[in-house]
Amino acid sequence: MTPVLRGESPSVTETPGIPCPDADLLGFAGLLPPAERERLAALHEFLQTRIRPAVVEPWTREEFPAHLLPALAEHGLGELELSGASRLFTGLAHAEVARADVSLSALVGIHNELILGLIDALGSPEQKQRWLPALRTFRALGAFALTEPEHGSDIAGGLSTTATRDGGDWVLTGTKRWIGAGTVADVAIVWARDTADGQIKGFLVETDRPGFTATKIEHKLGLRIMQNADLVLDAVRVPAEALLPGATGFAAANEMLRNSRAWVGWQAAGAQLAVFDIARDYALARRQFGRPLAAFQLVQEPLARILGNASASLGLMARIAGLQEEGRLDMPQAALAKATTTRLARESAALGRNLLGGNGVVAEHGMAKVFADIEIIHTYEGTYEINALIVGRAVTGVSAFV
Ligand SMILES: Cc1cc2nc3c(=O)[nH]c(=O)nc-3n(C[C@H](O)[C@H](O)[C@H](O)COP(=O)(O)OP(=O)(O)OC[C@H]3O[C@@H](n4cnc5c(N)ncnc54)[C@H](O)[C@@H]3O)c2cc1C
Repeated sequence: MTPVLRGESPSVTETPGIPCPDADLLGFAGLLPPAERERLAALHEFLQTRIRPAVVEPWTREEFPAHLLPALAEHGLGELELSGASRLFTGLAHAEVARADVSLSALVGIHNELILGLIDALGSPEQKQRWLPALRTFRALGAFALTEPEHGSDIAGGLSTTATRDGGDWVLTGTKRWIGAGTVADVAIVWARDTADGQIKGFLVETDRPGFTATKIEHKLGLRIMQNADLVLDAVRVPAEALLPGATGFAAANEMLRNSRAWVGWQAAGAQLAVFDIARDYALARRQFGRPLAAFQLVQEPLARILGNASASLGLMARIAGLQEEGRLDMPQAALAKATTTRLARESAALGRNLLGGNGVVAEHGMAKVFADIEIIHTYEGTYEINALIVGRAVTGVSAFV
């Protein structure tokens, strides 16, 4: 077993006589080649020692920790998607970011899967040259603007933001909701319906263009460092070259969402490792009735259940990584993984929160933060229900939604 997924707890390592095996009981990190295993171990160390403690305060205040971006870039997190690493490494790296902070992992995941990866896959050579170098080092940030105030789950059919060709320009008009990093991004990938042919197309829109405004959505339950925004596009004029040449229909957006759904599965797995780390540390350190909580059978069972859920999620995601490696991941598979891992994560979060008693409801102890963040990943990137319905359609041949 490798030490890479070991929980960070002085109370664990300092408690004599209590053996403390890795959280990675089934040895998923051991499936990586040695060089990637070492890279993952270094990433784990960095995230647990430098990032995990540094995000608690910004999370509580709903602030964006921009000062952490250079360190994240130094550790390759700005360019995971283009680094040439194996899919299993990329996935376990996303899980490690989520294990340190789920909120931050939303930033890193969307940045890699829906901005960097999308521009690389669907952009023109000029668009790639302009944006990729700055994105790879987090000198630039992007936002993925698909959801609208009146259209969430039914966005594919309902999207109402318009793009109208006017001479050499496009004019974009509409509103978007929930857009991650909306107030801090340099560029937004805006999905709009072409008024000429009715197709949904993707545009690279600089956020300082006249007519573009972003307003932060405040008081979110979770993912509090991710600056989600309401966007207004009031006749925003962009040049013809702003159109992503590979994104001239909704199939292009869907293609990207398939991989980003898989990424949320890794987020859910990592979040559950965080739940386990915090719950085990607490159970060993906290004493009631003269003994550590960990000595009680009704405490050991939920610990085993959380680890079982986390391990099941990792196993499912390792298989998804294999399918991605072979270029065979389809939407029902990604939807199954997203729905299942976030469902398990919700159970793990509830068990973990309960295990900390009163201390489970304050951010400082870590568990309340993960608990709240898991609620969000259950909803975004297609809600649990929508992903379940995608699987249901695939296995019955009958669509329960139009
Ligand atoms: C914190 C956060 C970050 C986000 N980040 C982004 C982002 O960066 N970019 C972006 O474009 N979007 C983003 N989203 C939007 C997200 O993808 C949507 O919230 C999600 O798709 C659900 O849409 P909705 O909120 O409008 O809910 P609705 O579609 O209104 O759904 C409400 C409820 O009804 C259920 N429901 C809907 N239709 C059916 C049906 N046919 N059968 C059964 N149940 C159904 C849903 O499952 C849900 O439980 C984010 C959302 C959040 C909360």
